[in-house]
Amino acid sequence: MTDAVLELRGVSKTFGPFKAVTDMSLSVLKGEIHALIGPNGAGKSTLLNMVAGGLPPSAGEILFAGRSIVGLPPHQIVHAGIARSFQITSIFPKLSVIENVRIALMARQGRCRSLFAPAAGVMQDDALALLEQVHMERDLDRPAGELAAGDRKRLEFAMALAGAPELMLLDEPTAGMSPEERSLVTAIIRKINATRGVTVLFTEHDIDMVFSTAHRITVMHQGSKLTEGEPAAVRANPRVRELYLGE
Ligand code: ADP
Ligand code: MG
Repeated sequence: MTDAVLELRGVSKTFGPFKAVTDMSLSVLKGEIHALIGPNGAGKSTLLNMVAGGLPPSAGEILFAGRSIVGLPPHQIVHAGIARSFQITSIFPKLSVIENVRIALMARQGRCRSLFAPAAGVMQDDALALLEQVHMERDLDRPAGELAAGDRKRLEFAMALAGAPELMLLDEPTAGMSPEERSLVTAIIRKINATRGVTVLFTEHDIDMVFSTAHRITVMHQGSKLTEGEPAAVRANPRVRELYLGE
């Protein structure tokens, strides 16, 4: 037994003859913010996709809360407690911010059919509380389709939180954002972790963001694990400096 909420053992993924991920092991501990870093093409997104059920591993075992999740369809993995912000393609652009969060709350409770019924005012308070968490309480009535990248990401976080996840998978959560948006989104990731106890596994190119946010870091290179540890140890690793930090 370990206190890992997510554990990968010997996970590999091949695409034809190409090995995208080879014999990866990874332990994400309950309550931590864990960064998965490595150069482009290292296999990070492939790995997250396997955890989220979007891509079957070619070999290996993936355990969530001690139970194998290999072979489960994505919706069952979400139901088990794993959310991923980058999978939410279900933002309704014409609906308002708060309506989108209410939909996510109702989906969680299996009440989608009552959405457009007259009594749909329910869950307004819960939706508002989630939007306060991501500092969007002033954007409630804005159409979701008009949001800038950073605002959209924060709405996605609120919608993911509606499912009360234990683990959030974030693939490059600040990609394509301005420096201001990036620091806001980063602060919200920290807050979600600190106040709601949500474990976070994320990939990120911005190395300063990684070292200032992650409790532990796993470095991938060419599909395999280079090292895993606390930021100071990872930063001091000569192979990391050479291969990843370009020193
Ligand atoms: P990262 O997210 O670390 O940049 P990826 O996981 O996206 O890396 O990709 C790892 C490697 O696997 C890359 O060389 C990529 O081209 C390859 N790859 C990813 N998905 C597929 C696919 N569906 N078919 C073939 N090759 C793929
Ligand atoms: Mg990627």
